[in-house]
Order: sequence, then structure tokens, then C-alpha cells
Amino acid sequence: MTSPERPDIVLIVLDCVRAREIADAETFSALMPFLHRLAGESLNFTNVVSPSPWTIPSHASLFTGLYPWSHKVHLKATLKLNPRIPTIAGILRARGYKTFSASANGFVCPDVGLTRGFTDSHWGAWWEKYLKIPILKRAPHTEHRDGSYRAIGIPKSLEPLLAATLRHPSSLNYLNWVVSRVADVEQSRAPVVSSWIEPEFRTWLHARSQDEPIFAFFNFMDAHEPYVPGDFGRNREPLAPDHRLPRMDKSGQMAGLWTPTEEDVRGFTVLYRETLSRLDSRVRLIWEELESCGRAERAVFAVTSDHGQSLGEDGVLFHAQVSDESVLRVPLILRDPTLPIKAGVVREWVSLVDLAPTFLRRVGIEGTDLDGLAIQDFLEGGRPVPVGSLGDGLHPRDVVWKLTSKGQASSWNQVWLAAYMGNKKLVYYPEAGKLIDEQLPDQGTAGGHDPDSVALPWIRMASNQFAYREGRSEDDQAITARLKSWGYV
Ligand SMILES: [Zn+2]
Repeated sequence: MTSPERPDIVLIVLDCVRAREIADAETFSALMPFLHRLAGESLNFTNVVSPSPWTIPSHASLFTGLYPWSHKVHLKATLKLNPRIPTIAGILRARGYKTFSASANGFVCPDVGLTRGFTDSHWGAWWEKYLKIPILKRAPHTEHRDGSYRAIGIPKSLEPLLAATLRHPSSLNYLNWVVSRVADVEQSRAPVVSSWIEPEFRTWLHARSQDEPIFAFFNFMDAHEPYVPGDFGRNREPLAPDHRLPRMDKSGQMAGLWTPTEEDVRGFTVLYRETLSRLDSRVRLIWEELESCGRAERAVFAVTSDHGQSLGEDGVLFHAQVSDESVLRVPLILRDPTLPIKAGVVREWVSLVDLAPTFLRRVGIEGTDLDGLAIQDFLEGGRPVPVGSLGDGLHPRDVVWKLTSKGQASSWNQVWLAAYMGNKKLVYYPEAGKLIDEQLPDQGTAGGHDPDSVALPWIRMASNQFAYREGRSEDDQAITARLKSWGYV
């Protein structure tokens, strides 16, 4: 059996799931009944800030306990994690853990350095969030610690055809409908993104002996745009707007290629909420899998997100380089039977950089030189330093530069650093030297610190650490290609 000193640790990222729906108990229990029940017997953090508004810097922070200005995995530096920076997967593996990663988001891959430390890692293909095949049992990409790599994909020759289909949402919806009917005639299950995640985990978990502690990481992408109707049985009209970019996002909007209507935005909200229910079932399946091996009850089980998602609130759509609350505020549910306080709502500010030191503390390792703090240390006393986030602007070769007038792209290329403390949020634009001071509604945090005297020097320190366009890696081309396939550049 795994020992209390080496508990199983499970970390689930629900990509694009924001705090808003979880913060409202009624909406939360209606949309995510399993997670709502689990939250009732866990710590449910209500003031959690994502270190970045997008996937790569945020996951790098989750895995290292460092802010983006420290690990330097962001658009103005390099998009590959420096091999000298330890990851929680690597540290736990060195302690005898078996480490597993299954990420629907293809950015959690070796090219970005985010699978380093995992014994077995699986990641998704770019087309999976468009074409939702409910019966995939194997991941498109798999790499094992011995370096062996396996790819299962659609033939290269079919990619242009698929790409053409994706540009026409009605044909995409039809294709998804056909796939869901052919693949699963009897059950008519809602289509999910990367349906291989649970089967890959099941196979891996059941191959483990009871005395092997595990660290398992999951990224589910169901809540990520694009949104297409999930329940075709009700004859709902396709809500996906006509778009000429592979990704219906703010870059398409800024380029004037796609203008969302109010009805689109309302439709997105309906579809987004449907994905939350689907995600709830998927988290339950992971929990039940652990239960079937007698591992669930004693495990450290964390559910969070890498960033939120905006659905028209504050004039922002989806997630991009904005510091809005809908994008930066994420859920965090942490279940750990050994914590002094096991369950309840925690209002202290928490960052995703706190998770690595929190997990390390559980296995008796002090995460020195980390930006994050072990949650155990400030559960009762209040957090002594702010939590922060970095907006890293645009990639030099981002598609937005080409498609928009320079002025528009420049406005989106702004770098900002945000700091939260007490009921205050500071947003600093280092290039313009501009500081915006926001008073937040009462967050219910312990306070006790004057945000100006603590947060201002802190944000200046972070800004000094932020290095503009330094250290681009040799792997830049591979990263650019990957970004391109995902519609980012
Ligand atoms: Zn993401």
C-alpha cells in the first residue's frame, strides 16, 4: 500500500473552466453534481488566480511552482521549459513515484518541455477539439520514459480535407453528428474531446502494483472553444458562427474576419455550460477508477484550471492576453485527508504556483527557491505576499500582426503584470510605465497587510525579473509550427 508519506497525487486541469460557475453554489451543483459533492468534503478555494491567461505559461507554473517571469516560458522569451528547472513530476519520480500525464491539450508535450518527469505521457492532436470521436482508446501521441514514441493520427493526406471541413461549421457539425452516430449508435453519448484519456489511464493504473505511489496529471479540453452543439437529438441549429480562421477566437475577431453577434455569445454560454456537465462526468470517471483500486480515499486530489474563459463579459471573448477576472480567476478544489483543515471554503488568495510546493510538502520536501507557497502554511494565518499573473502579449509571428492594422495588434501586444492582495488588484504595464489600481468587491480574505506597501514593491520585483525577448531557444521553429497548427500564429 502507498504510505502517508508517499500519497497518490492526482492533478486535474479543466482547461478554460473559470471560477464564475463554481462560485455560485446553485449553478455549480446543477452543472457539476459530482464535483460539487467532492468540493463539500474538500478545501474549495474561491480566490484563485491563474499565473497566465493561456495554456503554456500557466502549465509551466503549475509544474514548477514558479511564475512565468521566473521560469520564462512565455511568448517574449522561450516556449520551452529550461531542462535545469525541476518539475514536480521529475521530483516525485526520483522519489519512487510512477508518473502519468494525459493531456487533451497538445501543448503539454515534449517540444514545450512540459512532459519532462513523466514516466508515461500522452497528448492530443490539434483536430480533436473540432472532431469529437467518442470511441478513441489510444492517444494520438504517446511517449515513454525510455524515449519510445508512438503516434496514431489521421493520415497526412487527409489533413487538408479535414482543415477545409473545419472552416465550415455546418459541415463540421454534420461530420461530428455522423461520427457520434456511427461510433456509438446505442448509447448516443455526448461527444467528448480526447475520449482516449480515461482508457489510457485505466490501462496504466491497473498495471501498477499497490505499493507504487502515483502522480497522475490530466488536462481535459471540453470547455475550450470552439463550441458546437453537444446534443444533436434535440435538432438544435448549429450555433457555431461562420469563420475563416481555424480558431474562432479574438484574433479572428480582431482581424475583422468574424464578428460575434449577441446571439452567438448567448449560444456560447449555453454550450460552455453543457461542457461543464460533460467534464463533471469525466472527473467522476477518474475518481471511480482510483476507487476501484482502493486509492481514492487516501489520495491528494486536486481539480483546477490553467485559466478561465470569457463569454462576452467585459467585452472580452474567450481567453487571450487580457487581465479580466473571467480569464484569470479559476477554481481549485483540493482534497487531502491529512490537512489540518480538511474541508470548507477558503478565501485566501491562492495561485497555481502554490500547488507544486503544496504537493512537495506532502512528501516531505521543502520547495526552496519557489515562487509558490505551500498552502498548508497560510491556510489559517493569511497569505503574506500577493499572487500574480503575466500577460505576455503577442508572439512576434502571431497571425494577428498580419491580419490586423498595426495599431490593433499593438494594443493586444501589451505586456502586463497583475498582483492581487486584500481587496486590491494592481495591473502594471512595464513598457508604458502605466499602473492601474482596481478596488475589488470584498473578497473576504484575511487582509492584515497594506496592499500598497507590499504589492507595489512585489510587482516591481516581478517586472524586473521579466526579461523582454531574451533566450529564444533553438526549438523555436518546432514551437511555432505547433502554435500554428493550433491556430495561435
Ligand atoms: Zn488552456
